Amino acid sequence: MQRGEFLSTPVEYLKGVGPQRAELLRKELGIANFGDLLHHFPFRYIDRSKFYRISELNDDMPYVQLKGRISKITAHGGKRITRLSATFSDGTGHLELVWFQGIRWIKDSLKPDLDYVVFGKPGVFNGRLNMVHPELEEAARMEQLSGPSLAGIYSTTEKCKAKGLDSKGLQKLMRTLVAMVPQHLRDTLPDSIRAAHGLLSRRDALVGIHQPPDESRLSLATHRLKFEELFFIQLRLLRAKSERSEALRGKPVPKIGDFFNRFYEHHLPFALTGAQKRVLKEIRLDMGSGKQMNRLLQGDVGSGKTIVALLCMLMVLDNGMQACLMAPTEILAQQHFQSLAAMLENTGVRIGLLTGSTRAAQRRQLLSDLEQGELQILVGTHALIEDRVRFKNIGLVVIDEQHRFGVEQRARLWKKDEDVPHVLVMTATPIPRTLAMTLYGDLDTSVIDELPPGRKPIRTLHKTEANRLSVNGFIRDEIGKGRQVYIVYPLIDESEKMDYANLVSGFEGICRDFPPPQYRVCIVHGKMKSEEKDLAMQMFKSGTSNIMVATTVIEVGVNVPNASIMIIESAERFGLSQLHQLRGRVGRGAEQSYCVLMTGEKLGNDARKRMRTMCETNDGFRIAEVDLELRGPGDITGTQQSGVLDLRIASLARDQQILEEARSAAAKLVELDPKLIQPANAVLMERLSEMDRADANYSRIS
Ligand code: ADP
Ligand code: MG
Repeated sequence: MQRGEFLSTPVEYLKGVGPQRAELLRKELGIANFGDLLHHFPFRYIDRSKFYRISELNDDMPYVQLKGRISKITAHGGKRITRLSATFSDGTGHLELVWFQGIRWIKDSLKPDLDYVVFGKPGVFNGRLNMVHPELEEAARMEQLSGPSLAGIYSTTEKCKAKGLDSKGLQKLMRTLVAMVPQHLRDTLPDSIRAAHGLLSRRDALVGIHQPPDESRLSLATHRLKFEELFFIQLRLLRAKSERSEALRGKPVPKIGDFFNRFYEHHLPFALTGAQKRVLKEIRLDMGSGKQMNRLLQGDVGSGKTIVALLCMLMVLDNGMQACLMAPTEILAQQHFQSLAAMLENTGVRIGLLTGSTRAAQRRQLLSDLEQGELQILVGTHALIEDRVRFKNIGLVVIDEQHRFGVEQRARLWKKDEDVPHVLVMTATPIPRTLAMTLYGDLDTSVIDELPPGRKPIRTLHKTEANRLSVNGFIRDEIGKGRQVYIVYPLIDESEKMDYANLVSGFEGICRDFPPPQYRVCIVHGKMKSEEKDLAMQMFKSGTSNIMVATTVIEVGVNVPNASIMIIESAERFGLSQLHQLRGRVGRGAEQSYCVLMTGEKLGNDARKRMRTMCETNDGFRIAEVDLELRGPGDITGTQQSGVLDLRIASLARDQQILEEARSAAAKLVELDPKLIQPANAVLMERLSEMDRADANYSRIS
């Protein structure tokens, strides 16, 4: 059989499919051909030899298999039947089986005095165990079906189910298809890589994932497919990186001059930590190498990334070029501008701020100074990437992001100039290594893994409404000692009326509980005008106000060292990385700081784990790992757009080791054969072009 022919055969030619089901498979599950169907992997397996007893069941269980009899079939809903139920018993108890669809057909085919095997997820309704839309098989027929005892369970949709393409239906198709897979299916990985990593052939893996004879074969098949998936992502990233470093010359930053040296000697507000020095050296070497730098700077909240960015900008200034810093929000841009401007006082460096709310006249002046080269550092928001913003000679772009800048936005920044500037991306919160390798796999990485000295670890407590009075008492005590307090309300969606109502009533309550003149409460939220926000921030910064009620607008960047208490209301509604970010607003001064997580009494398992994790650790990397574990990468802000997260089988939370292996295999390959011209690597090229065709604008930065 010709290469590719088998896998690209339209799925309607499979026995049991036909035009109607083919259309459904394509529309509902994105399956157009044999290859697509083979890559619709089971999401779990059920051990066919294992039967549960009804008496063992509870509604926390995943899918289970039971054996028993059906009695008392009841149709509900009068003339038009809307629901069918049946009682299922196995001698240890009863369970209600429920159908909302395909009712007539099921009603006619159920036979009351036969043994059935049912399969589904147990649930509870009105205090009674039930199972909605279970899969049913006559026990006698089940026994005839020889085959592996591990049966794949497939995800499907309601529309597919209605046409018999439930998990069982898909299983049946897979059985037919797997039997047809040619013995010599062309592999996507060269033999050398398979041998080096002990991987099954592609054919064996595809067969094994659908019909594993046993656990160990299943795990080999899974391993091979995960490896392959991660390997190609890494190969792509590393090839992009290598191509870029060939094609782009970096703007030369050969020397360290007066700007840097004078600042370092006379204006540096503190001694750098060892980690800051190390990272600075990495960046200096990179920018001095003659190549264009693309570097990710990771560091926990408060680890001191800003000063590192500033020193890098000064290096670039020393070589006659300009630099800019782009922040994800207006508040953060202002904050950066203020702290940089303060540090740059009396250094002769000219710095400007450009945001959406910069006035027209000021903007004109700024833009003209920039083009003339009068302005050396520009801080701003998205406004920086507008076409009107032209630098005389931009040498370094620093992006302080919370995964908020998309690929295209970064790419646009680059196009501002013929020659490409160096790029330093700073993450606002740590991200797990696997995610960093995947999202930023085409960048080099520097990590600040040390906090400035003298920080007292923040103490985190979890409290509920029942503790409200004592929490208020605690706030009064701390304010009595001269400290300041943040109280944060969730405002997940700016348009959510409820959230605003909560914020406003919370604010009013706090004003009552903490009356003037002793207490002065200010408020900041996203719907305020930027002058109003500024005013409130200013009041808090100067200590005029000692309680700031806010939404997550204060999440990033706000720096008030005297604020030592962070109260987070409805903390269960926040994700871990957000909680960690918020907590990072305190613990910046010399005093002991506290973070209080207020939640309702009843919490789900995940929320409980989030609170526990926050109370247990201050380590942002650890928190990021738990976050990834709980939510998966797709739910972590900003990753959706990246395109690398439609992983079919590998998991960035669980498969770190395979990812490391796949990355090092890809790195070795790119080093030896960057253009993949060796005959043995032709298969890789084919697969890569296939991927390119599949999504033409994958390329992150080009
Ligand atoms: P982040 O990495 O979260 O952006 P920042 O750059 O805002 O952190 O730094 C947090 C705080 O720590 C700032 O107040 C900064 O002035 C201070 N800081 C940074 N580096 C040091 C250092 N080496 N020694 C003492 N304080 C430092
Ligand atoms: Mg910062």
